[in-house]
Amino acid sequence: MIEPRADVALMPGYHSAQVEVKVRLNTNEAPEPPPAAFTERLAEELHRIDWHRYPDRAAGELRAAIADLHGVSSAQVFVANGSNEVLQTLCLTYGGAGRTAAVFEPTYALHSHIARITGTGVIVGTRREDFTIDLDEVGRVLRDGNPEITFLCSPNNPSGTVDPPTVTETVLATAPGLVVVDEAYGQFAPRSAIGDVSDDGHRDLVVVRTFSKTWSMAAARLGYCVAPQRIVAQLEKVVLPYHLDAMKQVAGRLALEYRAEMDARVSAIVEERGRLAAGLADLPVDVWPSGANFILFRPRATDGEAVWQGLVDRSVLVRNCASWPRLDGCLRVTVGTPAENDAFLAALAEVLS
Ligand code: PMP
Repeated sequence: MIEPRADVALMPGYHSAQVEVKVRLNTNEAPEPPPAAFTERLAEELHRIDWHRYPDRAAGELRAAIADLHGVSSAQVFVANGSNEVLQTLCLTYGGAGRTAAVFEPTYALHSHIARITGTGVIVGTRREDFTIDLDEVGRVLRDGNPEITFLCSPNNPSGTVDPPTVTETVLATAPGLVVVDEAYGQFAPRSAIGDVSDDGHRDLVVVRTFSKTWSMAAARLGYCVAPQRIVAQLEKVVLPYHLDAMKQVAGRLALEYRAEMDARVSAIVEERGRLAAGLADLPVDVWPSGANFILFRPRATDGEAVWQGLVDRSVLVRNCASWPRLDGCLRVTVGTPAENDAFLAALAEVLS
């Protein structure tokens, strides 16, 4: 029997418990589907696809629409099947055997997982107790490890922490290689690093975004990055030919025509996040400030695993981070609809009482 690569055989894989429940607040999806007008237009446009032909390999119209959204050029936009594929392409292009990537944990587990899958070594730095980035620790990791890729995540999953501009600036000024800022939750936060991406000079900044959250399109699997042209050109060489199907290209382009609706949803989620945080503050849990569409919290006196199970028993599913490194006893709840958030808060109050 053929064995996999030795390092792959030893990997734990990526797991997220899926349980049948009424209130699903575990994967940071948008609580509402996209606007009905979007789905109708998409159905119409699907009729016009040349199904016997390969899609536009350059995804020209979609990239132009994304470029327009951010005020950059199409040549500075790389699109792929979910931001996870963007991260994978970055690792395949700039990581690989004999190269390393730095992460600051606790953070999005896929940064180190994807790095390892691509044969990239992982250097782990740690965040402070409150999950903010410690620039002394960053300095130590970058000096000692000299990584080809440095991952930041702002807002950070699972803590919700938003990096202040000084963090991004200092990391950019000191990192020896590529700086990848994962902004999967960027629209929920007060600031973005996209404005710092530039073709001038030698600034190796890449900002990664997704359609899975704000654009209510997790089912479509569409993500992108904004980066200097020379970096996008290298990524294009590595990704498979015609990797982005015609349906997805149409869906992404159309979604961006509903910006006002999406902005309204983001505002509603941010408002609900405030209400959820206030509700959590009334309960015996520690809560961390979040700039994302989720909140990390830790029950003070009750075991996190037991609280997670208690919520599942009441048909509410949140993400169980209780056994993750440095997240002892923590749970992460996605901001849902007002009714879902009420159901969660009521269930949690009951479990903790
Ligand atoms: N980055 C972060 C920080 C995430 O939390 C997620 C989704 N969990 C992703 C990237 C991947 O998103 P997608 O592949 O759906 O674009």
